[in-house]
Amino acid sequence: MLQDVLRQIERRDRFLLTSHARPDGDAIGSALACCQVLRAMGKQADVVLHDAVPRVYRSLPFADQVVQADRIKGGYEAAIILECDSVHRTRLEGLEDRFLISIDHHISGRPFAHVNWIDPHAVATAEMVFRLAREAGARFSPEIATCLYTALMTDTGSFMFQGVNQHTFALAQELVLAGADPAHCARSIYFAHSEAKLRLLGEALRNLKTEGHLAWTWVSHEHMQRWAAKDEDCEGLVNYVLSIGEVEVAAFFRELPDGRFRVSLRSKGKLDVARVAERFGGGGHECASGCPVDGPLASAVREVLQRLRRGPSVQ
Ligand code: 5GP
Repeated sequence: MLQDVLRQIERRDRFLLTSHARPDGDAIGSALACCQVLRAMGKQADVVLHDAVPRVYRSLPFADQVVQADRIKGGYEAAIILECDSVHRTRLEGLEDRFLISIDHHISGRPFAHVNWIDPHAVATAEMVFRLAREAGARFSPEIATCLYTALMTDTGSFMFQGVNQHTFALAQELVLAGADPAHCARSIYFAHSEAKLRLLGEALRNLKTEGHLAWTWVSHEHMQRWAAKDEDCEGLVNYVLSIGEVEVAAFFRELPDGRFRVSLRSKGKLDVARVAERFGGGGHECASGCPVDGPLASAVREVLQRLRRGPSVQ
């Protein structure tokens, strides 16, 4: 719970903050904001991530201070793992023997740390960091507000996903009052794509398949190489598939160099896709989840679609 997290923070001085590999906006924004909150509390704190900060998040305040590493070194007294449901998903070595604090809003989040604060009612981990900062009495600088607003905006699909309510807008209002500039935050994310991303979108739209309320598409490793695309260039492509009026559930398959696939699942609300992703060892939210699946493409698609076709009744 929040009070336990705060108590553990107060007892220590040196913190490491991290999140899941292939970090998204909530992972990066929450970690950067939480780091600044800890520093405002007089603590030493560093953000360490397994993967590089994706291009669209590089202009966030203090994003240039994020350390990219495979292994944690240094005398941190605790690691705060945000927006991540296991040590394994951080892909960082050297966390095992440390004091771990988990702050997460995923419905699939299971307690794995020494102190676990998991709130599936929070629309983003950013909302929890906001509560932590307020409880700690930290000043909301424009930099903290910008990181949290960006996390909130991206994790709610620009305030469109299920779960967004009056509290979400009240939080957004607080962040704007504290100095976040909504137009600037939106421009940095939605008008800052690489050309490779748009090229991949072209490939994905060419491969689009529909079947009643389901739609899916894929990009191969060869497509990724052809356009010199990075993993992050695939983020959000699944939303184009979901944007078809009749479609309730969308899947996007990305082939990995080893022939396996990363699957992104999205739902308009009638099917809980977190449950489907969990079946394959992944997780996420009711309306947005992801998982790994073995190749080749035909069997990956067959297995995932089989689960999706069964619909809400078997969740
Ligand atoms: P995306 O499709 O954008 O990669 O992920 C959508 C959501 O599902 C995000 O909240 C992400 O954290 C979560 N997610 C994606 N892949 C996995 C996975 O392999 N395991 C878990 N637990 N969550 C995942």
